Amino acid sequence: MADIQSVGVIGAGQMGNGIAHVAALAGLPVVLVDVNPAALEKALATIAKNMDRQVAKGGLDAAAKDAALGRITTGTEMAALDACDIVIEAATEREETKLAIFKSVSALLKPEAILASNTSSIPITRLAAATDRPERFIGMHFMNPVPVMKLVEIIRGIATSEETFAAVAALAERMGKTTAVAQDYPAFIVNRVLIPMINEAVQALQEGVGDVRSIDAAMKLGANHPMGPLELGDFIGLDTCLAIMRVLHEGMGDSKYRPSPLLVKYVEAGWLGRKAGKGFYDYAVTPPKPTR
Ligand code: NAD
Repeated sequence: MADIQSVGVIGAGQMGNGIAHVAALAGLPVVLVDVNPAALEKALATIAKNMDRQVAKGGLDAAAKDAALGRITTGTEMAALDACDIVIEAATEREETKLAIFKSVSALLKPEAILASNTSSIPITRLAAATDRPERFIGMHFMNPVPVMKLVEIIRGIATSEETFAAVAALAERMGKTTAVAQDYPAFIVNRVLIPMINEAVQALQEGVGDVRSIDAAMKLGANHPMGPLELGDFIGLDTCLAIMRVLHEGMGDSKYRPSPLLVKYVEAGWLGRKAGKGFYDYAVTPPKPTR
């Protein structure tokens, strides 16, 4: 597979719609598949809205937007992906879900097609081993929101071939992204460094080192971070942060990665951050009010 000319995306959630967006703008035909027809409808509306924003800012002309939207087709059946050169899986972060997807999709793909996963935390080698093509399996970890964030982490599984790596790196560049190559260790690079920092901020909050406002202000103004760690945790989703800490804790076998008990408590309360309307801030009020 020298040159990727068509892209399939499985999962039309926040990441899948972004991946379809940047692939279509790169001139590639895209097939977007989700089990949930409502997710597909919502994804198309989101892509159109986000492209409109790019047009309004002068980064895209209206004709290019229309052409890109015209390159995206959707479906609820995996069979729609049979002609794709690469399929990028961006479904829910559950290993059983992903394994079931790879099983059904690999049965209908061309033998030379590449399978990629956008997983944040599941080992690429383990996912690859459950497919018929571990040498053509790779991690392609986009950042949220995909149209805005420049980075794609590329993660080789132990069996990933050089050809697969080169084709996927070229695809990421064609999508306008910069790549960072990560080895297949728990949480790869970005989340290995970022999520323990958020967890440490929660631990500092639990110990009373500072309150929510102080901790976020300290890191914004003292470390020049665009968002404070607690605000960022709310943006990512505290359940996601906790799940990644658990992957690090288990995968590294090192107590330094233990999740903060206060983070566990917030998740147990259903205070998952922005998406739940409440996390370290209460988003029911403007501006959001710290919950501690
Ligand atoms: P999401 O919940 O917004 O979307 C997941 C989508 O997958 C849903 O639309 C769901 O209907 C669909 N889906 C579930 N099972 C399916 C199946 N069997 N076949 C087809 N579609 C199915 O989730 P998201 O935030 O877009 O995350 C998707 C993936 O991207 C996860 O692996 C996550 O770890 C990873 N990721 C997320 C972020 C982030 O910040 N949200 C960043 C990088 C990577």
